[in-house]
Amino acid sequence: MSMFNGFTPHHSSPLDDQLDQTARHQSQDARAELYELEERMDKLQLVCMAMWEVIKEKTDMTELELMSKVQELDLRDGVVDGKVTRTVKDCPNCHRRMSPRHKRCLYCGHEELVASAFDGI
Ligand SMILES: [Zn+2]
Repeated sequence: MSMFNGFTPHHSSPLDDQLDQTARHQSQDARAELYELEERMDKLQLVCMAMWEVIKEKTDMTELELMSKVQELDLRDGVVDGKVTRTVKDCPNCHRRMSPRHKRCLYCGHEELVASAFDGI
């Protein structure tokens, strides 16, 4: 019995090459999506900073009050995790779960009225 029993040397097959190419494309797509998300986050951060500068200039609000409000909003979902967790709702039409990221029910197409400027973001 050879010590190499059970060992199969790797030979590249057309299927392997196709899988490698698919994996490469998926990786490139994921990188492009990540880059786009980072761009959007940078723009959002810039707008938030500009809004805060304007608020500070036009009111007597302090940095401490801002941080206190951030903590208050963070706590509204019951978890201090540095983010606002969206609550899952049932569709009023078909009663299935609606994705908090979509304004429209994915099952029946029912469109939920926008209740906040931040809905659907
Ligand atoms: Zn529905």
